[in-house]
Amino acid sequence: MINDAHCHFFSPQFFRALARQQLAMRAAPSALVAASASEIYRELQWDDPVATETLADRWVADLDRHGVNRTVLIASVPGDESSVAEAVARHPSRFVGFFMLDPSAADASDRARRAIHDLGLRGVCLFPAMHHVALTDERVKRIVERAAEQPGVIVFVHCGVLTVGVRRKLGLPSHFNLRLGNPLQVAHLALAFPKVPFIIPHFGAGLLREALMAADTCANIHFDTSSSNSWTRYTPGLTLDAVFKAALAVVGPSRLLFGTDSSFFPRGWQKGIYDAQRGIVEQTGVSAADASLIFGGNFDRLFPAR
Ligand SMILES: [Zn+2]
Repeated sequence: MINDAHCHFFSPQFFRALARQQLAMRAAPSALVAASASEIYRELQWDDPVATETLADRWVADLDRHGVNRTVLIASVPGDESSVAEAVARHPSRFVGFFMLDPSAADASDRARRAIHDLGLRGVCLFPAMHHVALTDERVKRIVERAAEQPGVIVFVHCGVLTVGVRRKLGLPSHFNLRLGNPLQVAHLALAFPKVPFIIPHFGAGLLREALMAADTCANIHFDTSSSNSWTRYTPGLTLDAVFKAALAVVGPSRLLFGTDSSFFPRGWQKGIYDAQRGIVEQTGVSAADASLIFGGNFDRLFPAR
């Protein structure tokens, strides 16, 4: 059984938000949003998502094709909670909804409350480097308090290197402050909210040592294994095999969540990442029971079917 803890839902609303940013950058009239969004698909050679329901159904068809049971879908621009909520409502046995939140927005706390309580989303995604809000900031604490109100809601914190491929391809500015995404500050939050599960994606995306230290001291910190993990090139000689071995030794199999970081179509679900990571886990001599935790069991424990 495969569950994927990290996929992005690039909804029509997501592309409209990018189009608005592009138009603002060119000082072009915002009435051009629809035309500009379709220009974006063409430019990227990605398929038009058409409509939220169409995209949700396409995801399910793709998961079926690859034998994937459930996935997390992340609303990948602040304000796109409803798209993912709609996809989850359409396929509740297949999708778990997360949403990106900018804690510096005036309505951040209300948005979080609405997404969690009214829309039933189960993960708040923080990108401190992108939104320029330190994890020690009171505004972040208020968001985590919202998550803590509802059992089963997790907080996902992107740490380490952050590149948003689509922004780069479209020439949108990415003034990220990488210092702000530090797993040691996730540990600080996780200690303050011991009942809230935290997920650090991509093993800390370059801050592996800090991520291991954080997870070693906080039993509520989990890692996701998603993406090609190309950050390993920052440490000479480091291989993904060695990363898995270290994570298994320090964090253990019950706090590792397999993920791919799949996002757009026609590429769809990234089987290549699954194959590579399955091979690594098998080679490291992990028991079948532990492997099934990583590739699906931990997901089902954190996000029981509703
Ligand atoms: Zn991602």
